Amino acid sequence: SNGNTAFPGQVHDLPGGGIVISSFNEIINWARSNSLWPLTFATSCCGIEMMSVASSKYDFSRFGFEVARATPRQADVIIIAGTIVNKMAPVLKRLYDQMADPKYVVAMGACAISGGPFFYNTYSVVKGADHVIPVDVYIPGCPPRPEALLHALITLQQKIKSGLTREQIRAEKMQS
Ligand code: SF4
Repeated sequence: SNGNTAFPGQVHDLPGGGIVISSFNEIINWARSNSLWPLTFATSCCGIEMMSVASSKYDFSRFGFEVARATPRQADVIIIAGTIVNKMAPVLKRLYDQMADPKYVVAMGACAISGGPFFYNTYSVVKGADHVIPVDVYIPGCPPRPEALLHALITLQQKIKSGLTREQIRAEKMQS
């Protein structure tokens, strides 16, 4: 167990079986947090680090978010890994709009956060994904290590499990 999977309730053993005491919201948040399906959105070098979390070395299936999808309609967390150019911005917005609620956004790396090395004197790069869609988690680095992405997703899981709304998660200015 990684600590996120502990059932949110009390289990009482009784002769011939047992009963579980919990609240409906706690069970929903627990299930939701342990079943994040990422939409992959790798546009440049950070994407290589993102892909490596699926390797045997990092193995993100240990934490319940291994079901990476290539379609937004089957995903509830988008990982923006790489530079967002102006021509790509409407595509990012459309993908985000097609995801089902509740949905979350991770900005992985300096480019996704602020334009990174392309912040100055570049006409073609968006100066941060949050100019296009709302971001919940920022992962600094150029590129961030795979462990940082794992940490960000685990932290997001814990926030969801604790019952915070998306607005409350963003208000905390969450940073991996
Ligand atoms: Fe590449 Fe660095 Fe930008 Fe990531 S933050 S996409 S490693 S230039």
